[in-house]
Amino acid sequence: MATRKIKTVYDVVCPFCGTLCDDLEVDVEIATDKVVEVRNACQIGTAKYYSSNPSPHRYEKPMIRKDGKLTEASWDEAIEKAADILTAAKRPLLYGFSSTECEAQGKGVELAEILGSILDNTASVCHGPTLLAEQDVGVPTSTLGEYKNRADLVIFWGSNPVHAHPRHLGRYSEFIRGYFRKDGRNDRYVVVVDPRNTHTAQIADMWINVNPNEDYELMNAIRAVLRGIDLDDENVAGVPKDKIYELVDLVKKCNYGVIFFGMGLTQTLSHHRNIDTAVCMTRELNDHTKFLITPMRGHYNVSGANTVFTWNTGYAYSIDFSRGYPRYNPGEFSSVPLLMNDEVDASLIVASDPASNFPQDSVRNMFKHPLIAIEPHETPTSAFADVVLPAAIAGIECDGTAYRMDHVPLRLRKVKDAPGECLTDKEILERLIKKVKEKLGEK
Ligand code: SF4
Repeated sequence: MATRKIKTVYDVVCPFCGTLCDDLEVDVEIATDKVVEVRNACQIGTAKYYSSNPSPHRYEKPMIRKDGKLTEASWDEAIEKAADILTAAKRPLLYGFSSTECEAQGKGVELAEILGSILDNTASVCHGPTLLAEQDVGVPTSTLGEYKNRADLVIFWGSNPVHAHPRHLGRYSEFIRGYFRKDGRNDRYVVVVDPRNTHTAQIADMWINVNPNEDYELMNAIRAVLRGIDLDDENVAGVPKDKIYELVDLVKKCNYGVIFFGMGLTQTLSHHRNIDTAVCMTRELNDHTKFLITPMRGHYNVSGANTVFTWNTGYAYSIDFSRGYPRYNPGEFSSVPLLMNDEVDASLIVASDPASNFPQDSVRNMFKHPLIAIEPHETPTSAFADVVLPAAIAGIECDGTAYRMDHVPLRLRKVKDAPGECLTDKEILERLIKKVKEKLGEK
């Protein structure tokens, strides 16, 4: 029997969540160029690698909608059609960019500037409030490696890593042994603040069952107790005052603490004011011990999108180029309110699926106007697109740079070729830029 020839790629960085685990080993069958085994990844990371194998949901050729149906087209035709749509639009939107590599994100900024369009990434609907708060009050933070080696008190506030970042706990925050935490889990005290008894809460040492939308009140009660003030009420935000005293006692006594917060804090009532208060609370904790705070970023390179947009325009998301220079005003130039008000007359969606998570009315308005999707797989967004430009999956079928949730840049590795006629996001955007420039008479 003939033996299967397998190539193994080591030290692969997982392109799924913001943890960016960089210890994966991926086996690819040489004859078929199929992923046949993934080691060290969690289930969702593993599934992403297998999603690169041939499937009926994978786009392998450009598509253009003709007579209501997506039909195969040549790259030249598809780029021509996409450039026509973008140049004819008065207020085009370029959105997504968080599940692709930094080099493609840079090309997205270039295209937005040429078109005078809106440029936005997924932070607009996840950690945008974190960025606003950090711009206001700064942020005392560090790297995941430091937390692994030093943290003896870990607070997950409004985040559920067991489901959203499965290996975060094993690599950095809970079970892992660190240089100063030789006994791993036994050397750390874990607190979860969440209205739900999540699976992360179930394996924590303490669960603070805060009322939904009352994190702001709880954090300010903690800040008051830290300043030596007695609480008048028996309970704040659904948490008995004795529990608040117990928590304050714990945080004051630890050697090195960290708060990891998620969308339970950024997307509940008070939004960026929650994060503002969380940062101020963390800063005040440093009067007693060492304490830091880090957002749990979802899309694997949303931190990269914020970074690349910032170094190119000065702003991290929700940018308007319509006056020929970048302007920033979340709420006014964010994708959801613009779509809700039906101000956008064409959309280019890159490596993202807004139809799955934007409000219904905004999605309906997006579908009313021409839509271009740069996407490897069929999604609820691409299914309604007028032009589909098939992309290689960054981090599997092409390399590039991505920023981890703690802003450490890592190099994504290519493990196999992209199928069919797929091009990288960067190549597609370069072709679009060239064609748009031609149509606008620019060099
Ligand atoms: S925790 Fe995130 S980065 Fe790590 S393997 Fe799972 S999905 Fe990939």
